[in-house]
Amino acid sequence: MKYERDQGRPARRWGVDFLPQADTMLNLGSYTTAVLPPELARIAEHLGGHNLMNNSEYPYVPDMIADCVAGLSELWHRGRHEAPSAAVSGSTEAAMLAGLAALHRWKRTGVGNRPNLVASAGAHVCWRRFCTYWDIELRTVAAAGAAVVADPADLARACSESTILAVATLGYPEHGLFDDVAALAELLRAQGPGTPVHVDAASGGFTAPFLSAGTLWDFLVPEVVSINTSGHKFGQTGLGLGWILWRDADHFPAHLWHEADYVGNGKRDLGLTFSRSAAPVAQQAHLLTRAGAFERYGYDLRDCSALAAAIASALSGDTGLTVLNDGRAMPVVAFADRRSGGVETFTNRMREDGWIIPTYPLTSNPELGQCGRIVVKPGLSAPVRDRLLASVLRAVRPQAVDL
Ligand SMILES: *Cc1c(COP(=O)(O)O)cnc(C)c1O
Repeated sequence: MKYERDQGRPARRWGVDFLPQADTMLNLGSYTTAVLPPELARIAEHLGGHNLMNNSEYPYVPDMIADCVAGLSELWHRGRHEAPSAAVSGSTEAAMLAGLAALHRWKRTGVGNRPNLVASAGAHVCWRRFCTYWDIELRTVAAAGAAVVADPADLARACSESTILAVATLGYPEHGLFDDVAALAELLRAQGPGTPVHVDAASGGFTAPFLSAGTLWDFLVPEVVSINTSGHKFGQTGLGLGWILWRDADHFPAHLWHEADYVGNGKRDLGLTFSRSAAPVAQQAHLLTRAGAFERYGYDLRDCSALAAAIASALSGDTGLTVLNDGRAMPVVAFADRRSGGVETFTNRMREDGWIIPTYPLTSNPELGQCGRIVVKPGLSAPVRDRLLASVLRAVRPQAVDL
């Protein structure tokens, strides 16, 4: 039954027959997992009520977390698998923790009186949130000229002695392109020792190791002190999982660890939340420890990227749209148009086939006008993929016959 908003009614009942129906698959803008395969749905059904925090009742949880962290350490070239890490509720919580660890470290060793954090204007809103909540100065850097990612030189210049972190984004939410982490680190090194780099790889943490293996962005870059990703984006788990890994214990001040002995079995813990479902962690552990786990991620992502590239190539025809991301490094197709209504002409036609595509002014470079994005996620069946491409082709060539 279709959910209709009814503002006037004072009371509602949310019976199971009246649960709002929404086809998450049709929302092309979202990065989060849209289709849960049956084995992950089974995990959610069985472990959904197990509390991630209760290590004495569910002793398998810390082992699953350790196995996931080992997988991510391998993907991100972190030598010390046992260095500080955490399974958190999402990349937003990860960002808060990365920022707090850096703030506490700066309080002990840093210079100046007012700490600041540097990020591009297109970075995720969680960094603005971190800075507002903990009263840190946020220094944002806009992209120059016709670019849509910040110039690493501008990011480096914005850093000072009191910069607790320079945040590089691996996958700007609005278009999916990457900050140049290696270039930023090199410039910071030339400026003198000090500014640590955090990589917000909410989407890129699970794509870059497979689609951009030649790009230097992870713990191989000495300035990178911490990295986060979202399990529930290209990590392919259900909603409610993020990961944060620090390079070593030196970058996670020891006093931030806590113990909760009455549930914890003496285990140390870190995080901003407490009780949560263990299901997404169990799903991630399944995905990262099954046979050929990395090959399967690689296969899925190349498959998504091929469809994204086909969509991008259709959009770069005589549509008047500027393709910002061709979907190769990250299965996201982003497009912009300076003409008023240009992007909406395309997205409205897609809407006729049921596809929802968000449109928004480009924050990383407002001069380029309105932007839209299509995130091609793993898990779409062949008929859905065919339908999506057919809709795109029809939307860009409305006079063409139905495919
Ligand atoms: C999605 C996203 C976030 C927030 O992640 P959640 O897991 O939704 O909390 C942070 N940063 C970037 C770059 C993102 O794409």
